[in-house]
Amino acid sequence: MSLYRDEGIVLRTHKLGEADRIVTVLTRRTGKVRGVAKGVRRTMSRFGARLEPFTHVDLQLHNGRTLDVITQAETIHPYGEALVHDYPRYTAGSAMLETADRLIMGEKEPALRQFLLLVGGLRTLGSGGHEPRLVLDAYFLRSLAVAGYAPALEACARCKAPAVRAFAIVAGGVVCGACRPAGSAVPAGETIALMSALLKGDWATADASEGRHRAECSGLVAAYLQWHLEHGIRSLRHVEREPASSTTLD
Ligand SMILES: [Zn+2]
Repeated sequence: MSLYRDEGIVLRTHKLGEADRIVTVLTRRTGKVRGVAKGVRRTMSRFGARLEPFTHVDLQLHNGRTLDVITQAETIHPYGEALVHDYPRYTAGSAMLETADRLIMGEKEPALRQFLLLVGGLRTLGSGGHEPRLVLDAYFLRSLAVAGYAPALEACARCKAPAVRAFAIVAGGVVCGACRPAGSAVPAGETIALMSALLKGDWATADASEGRHRAECSGLVAAYLQWHLEHGIRSLRHVEREPASSTTLD
């Protein structure tokens, strides 16, 4: 039996048998880990309380035959506390956890940049300094970029021409008039500029954006993310979004 320590963000938990729980954690060094927390549902255990989604925990585990067993958990930061009484922030945070879980498919494959992005995203969300939808879209764009799916935003995704006029999910971002596939969206230039600002972390530009461009940006980012994940993300349905009425399809 070999022990190891790591820290991570609890992504989700589910019941195992009468008293145990399986806890999925995105850790700093080990990547995504699923561990069994024994006996946490039998009592009102503080151990179990530390293993709730959103919590940044320091863990001790031992390698099991199928699942590792969590033997100790200490709270580093309970990110959920800042989110739980604020519905838009809570749903945005839930969508982040679910996206991290689905984008990082392999277990025990180190994913340090994804871990740091998630910690940064939860911290920014909890601090309340930016609109939750902007924080979520920035997280989506950057986690997609880390996973190798950054959308092209500066030049045509297909031919690299600098003059672009549409956004095509199947092409991987903005496209020129010649490369534009049927059914691509024609967003406002400000919407593409907002996506670019969120991807780069340019909060001054993002915070100054108008609501209609934020709505259009959210719609495009959500569609782009879902296309890459192949299946819809359940939490996304609960994130409050204004209709992206300015988006025209042709
Ligand atoms: Zn082109």
